[in-house]
Amino acid sequence: MPRYDFRCRSCGATFELRRAMAQANDPAVCPEGHTDTVKLLSAVAVTGSGTAAPGPTGGGGGGGCCGGGCCG
Ligand SMILES: [Zn+2]
Repeated sequence: MPRYDFRCRSCGATFELRRAMAQANDPAVCPEGHTDTVKLLSAVAVTGSGTAAPGPTGGGGGGGCCGGGCCG
């Protein structure tokens, strides 16, 4: 029976479940009881955390005030 890795988005825990392939997409429940979980790809190292560098938010662009010195 294959194992599937899940990650809880409520508490951040990762856990494994052994279940039939037919149930692979069934919702999993975190050991802590949370239901907001996502299934991970066990074969791929998911590098989600780290340098999450969001680009400049598209609006505005110029950003006159805080870009200059008047806010500081
Ligand atoms: Zn949890």
